[in-house]
Amino acid sequence: MAVNAEQYRSLIQELGPDVTLVAVSKTKPAEDIQALYELGQRDFGENYVQELTEKVPALPKDIRWHFIGHLQSNKVKYIVPFVHLIQGVDSLKLLKEIDKQSAKAGRVTDCLLQIHIATEETKFGLDGPELAALLVSDEFASMKHIRVRGLMGMASFSHDQELLKKEFTVIRELYKQHGSGWDTLSMGMSSDYRLAVQEGSTMVRVGSLLFGARTPVS
Ligand SMILES: *Cc1c(COP(=O)(O)O)cnc(C)c1O
Repeated sequence: MAVNAEQYRSLIQELGPDVTLVAVSKTKPAEDIQALYELGQRDFGENYVQELTEKVPALPKDIRWHFIGHLQSNKVKYIVPFVHLIQGVDSLKLLKEIDKQSAKAGRVTDCLLQIHIATEETKFGLDGPELAALLVSDEFASMKHIRVRGLMGMASFSHDQELLKKEFTVIRELYKQHGSGWDTLSMGMSSDYRLAVQEGSTMVRVGSLLFGARTPVS
């Protein structure tokens, strides 16, 4: 079996009731997701729209699907009908499309705004001033079919604990500064979830620690 059950149990225990574990199942087959589901896991995260929409029909209906990747506006309509939380909303334009498609689907979609904090140029997200501007905009105020629950961030791909800590702190401070009514601060992955939780994360996104290493996708 590709799923590490022992690792899963100890991680759940370590995180405790106040931190939500999102099991990141991108590139992994439905059988692996089913195996973790049977151990009790309900929150799963995927990065690719097509992969996600192909997996959903084959798996239990009470799975809470988190979209954690970079979402293109033209793909929003495919996931809005069922998605539990869209993490990684990185522009007002995308938020507007989620609002529009959610209105069509007759629902309110929960979202996290992604903060760009890592030193890598390749990662997406808003910086502090962009976040502040979005939150006070009239357009944001007019959207009735999205609900922002908090922030999501990805730290640098680094083992430098001081750097990671600094990055998590920046996100946490933005969360505290803007987050009246927010309840979700999503930061931390397999390699840095412990530090992220120490720095205030309420949701970690863990893949390879549970499912084993991914073979790179092109
Ligand atoms: C792949 C991915 C993860 C999980 O990464 P691991 O290192 O396998 O735990 C978490 N968050 C995002 C946004 C990802 O793309």
